[in-house]
Amino acid sequence: MADNGRTSSIIALDEQWGAHNYHPLPVVISEAEGAWVTDVDGKRYLDFLSGYSALNFGHRHPALVQAAHEQIDRLTLTSRAFHNDQFGAFCEELAELTGTEMVLTMNTGAEAVESAIKVARKWAYEVKGVAFDSAEIIVATNNFHGRTTTIVSFSDDPVAHDNYGPFTPGFVTVPYGDAQAVRDAIGPNTAAVLMEPIQGEAGVVVPSPGFWADVREACTENDVLLIADEVQSGLARTGEIFALDHEGVRADLYTLGKALGGGIVPVAAVVGRADVLGVLKPGQHGSTFGGYPVACAVGRGVVELLRTGEFQERSRELGAHLHERLGELSGQGVAEVRGRGLWAGVDIDLLAKTGREVSMALRDEGVLCKETHERTLRMAPPLVITRDEIDHAVDALGRALKA
Ligand SMILES: *Cc1c(COP(=O)(O)O)cnc(C)c1O
Repeated sequence: MADNGRTSSIIALDEQWGAHNYHPLPVVISEAEGAWVTDVDGKRYLDFLSGYSALNFGHRHPALVQAAHEQIDRLTLTSRAFHNDQFGAFCEELAELTGTEMVLTMNTGAEAVESAIKVARKWAYEVKGVAFDSAEIIVATNNFHGRTTTIVSFSDDPVAHDNYGPFTPGFVTVPYGDAQAVRDAIGPNTAAVLMEPIQGEAGVVVPSPGFWADVREACTENDVLLIADEVQSGLARTGEIFALDHEGVRADLYTLGKALGGGIVPVAAVVGRADVLGVLKPGQHGSTFGGYPVACAVGRGVVELLRTGEFQERSRELGAHLHERLGELSGQGVAEVRGRGLWAGVDIDLLAKTGREVSMALRDEGVLCKETHERTLRMAPPLVITRDEIDHAVDALGRALKA
């Protein structure tokens, strides 16, 4: 924890001038490559968070950096008032990768979710025939879908929700993982079910096998859209393109973000059925930067990396190793481990430490990860990580829990 003064003086600037809507670990990163970051004092750390899965391909993946550089040297922004030579190709390649028919490009995950909500409501009125202004969307307890006013309207996390009202109506909350509750909540006005296939911010919560097949069936029977928020779970994090793929279930719409921009630029999208996204006509929705050439060029690079299946395979194989190693810590400060692929929610024993204390101890060991809620550590290393690096991090966690 050597501090020559630079770390604390930079943090002091953040504190004085930046809004205090985050509580970062006290480490100031100035360089990164692959699974490793370096702080302003030259100390190296293994990244075990990956920017909440925005860095699935590691920091500055050479192919993505090259795609960004080449695009920036040629054309950065046209606005959608004109065509550009990257947009159509990106949409085609992303649709092909995801087995979907149409792509709506946005910038951030929250915007993708907002867009999916707007599209589902519009579809409900114009196609399904729901009475004007009465569409309902079924959501889950402990959800996280972003930070806009509409999205926090249906968050049950008081920290994310409280004092941002008046809130957007039209959302019905059911317990996550309870398919019967979804079925019971469906009525004539239901437009969609919107949920995370695996809940990330809630602590990497995986529903029981069969849940998603049941929800899919209930949606199909009642002409209700299934919207899978794969902003965090998608794009190889769990070992497949979509976390839902593990369940053999297809959604009508998927939201994507985070890793879609390769950790370089914000890129998000809604992908899915053409007859649903097709309700949008010119002027009815948009974004100045959504689908801009730099986003499309980097997004095309991401699609190309995913096409080989190499990252999905790494996540499956190394994820099995990570979970096996974390399992060895159970009873030694670890109460429970959940997750899939290179993604784990680790609950710290009540008697041991808080997530924040363990994150701090891990930082001292040269491993960066972050707690979510009081007692859960979320581990999501870049998919370029090696087996030895995983061992290094889990050994460090073992020491951190004892420290
Ligand atoms: C991070 C996240 C979002 C929001 O993405 P932003 O880019 O931060 O707006 C939405 N849904 C899920 C599941 C997420 O994990």
